[in-house]
Amino acid sequence: MTARPDESTRAERLAVARAAYADVPLYDPRRAPVALDLTDNTNLWGLPPTAERVLRSVEPSVITRYPSLYGGELKEALGAWLGVPPDMLVTGCGSDDVLDSALRAFGDPGDVVASPVPTFAMVPILSRMNDLAHVGVTECEDHAIDVEGLLATRAKILYVCTPNNPTGCVTPLSALRALASRHEGVLLVDEAYAEFAGVSAVSLVRQFERVLVVRTMSKAFGLAGLRIGYAVGQPSLVREVEKSRGPYKVTALGERMAVAALREDMAWVQEHVQLAVQLRERLADALRTRGFAPLPSGANFLCVPVPQAVAVGQALRARGVAVRPFEGLPHVGDALRFSVGPWSMLQQCLAAFDAACTEVLGIAPASVAIDAEARA
Ligand code: PMP
Repeated sequence: MTARPDESTRAERLAVARAAYADVPLYDPRRAPVALDLTDNTNLWGLPPTAERVLRSVEPSVITRYPSLYGGELKEALGAWLGVPPDMLVTGCGSDDVLDSALRAFGDPGDVVASPVPTFAMVPILSRMNDLAHVGVTECEDHAIDVEGLLATRAKILYVCTPNNPTGCVTPLSALRALASRHEGVLLVDEAYAEFAGVSAVSLVRQFERVLVVRTMSKAFGLAGLRIGYAVGQPSLVREVEKSRGPYKVTALGERMAVAALREDMAWVQEHVQLAVQLRERLADALRTRGFAPLPSGANFLCVPVPQAVAVGQALRARGVAVRPFEGLPHVGDALRFSVGPWSMLQQCLAAFDAACTEVLGIAPASVAIDAEARA
């Protein structure tokens, strides 16, 4: 569903292509343009205001000249916000790039990367792009990570996403600490949605020299198009990722806007994080009223078990609204993942969802719920 196998057959493949790429798929979340896109968990309220002013006023040299080698000013601003020195930070072209660089930095070809299942769909792909074997360890019935199962893989690299994508479930620091203290390789903690959960593993990196916490400015900060990711770890760990990352990965415009947001727009970011959390719970209530049971979420999205999720998703799309369908998630089954945005968007989504459920599942629209939402 998320990864489309290479459409060419093995026989047609380019003879000079790297052997390990033979069955690497192209990532394709099927995100065709649609009037209301609630599929990618970005900030649907818009741009942070100071960052926007920077965008409108930068001089041409921001585009005509090369950016900084390793995003030094960005590391200063991130460090001031997170309370860590700049040599504990590495930046990249989105956290995808930081994860890619980290896998390349710590994994020799053939090494194993283990992660819970389900998790961020890019992890198996990034692993295979780096000639690493990906091993999935099914999460527990209550959506907790299987600490013993992950350790038993004896993987070189463990990856844990918290809050997890797509479930939204938060892994407690105690479980991460258990992994970090017993795992002999590197532990990557993906905190793309940490701002919404209000807890972070950044505190663990001082204690554990092989923990790298990977984060992004694509979600809470509303800067997905700038492609700014970063990671926090001990200087010796971060230095290896920086070698693997290479120079010039963050554009000058991106660095300027991100620094402005970190220095001037934190109140805006906090306000919209809180709004997203409030509206996530309001959306969860609205879905419960309709008889659905969203998973508890610490992120800016909700994972909702829905039968025939792909067909319901298509029926929603036909009504101009996109959410992300998942098929056969362990302990969940089919599900739809809804990004949270302003209530007007969520109301529009709920109305389309009711109609889609009627069409595909034969469930009558929850008119009582809709009336209550319209009044609210
Ligand atoms: N990690 C997780 C868990 C994500 O959901 C995403 C985006 N979908 C990323 C990393 C990558 O984000 P970006 O490259 O925009 O920083």
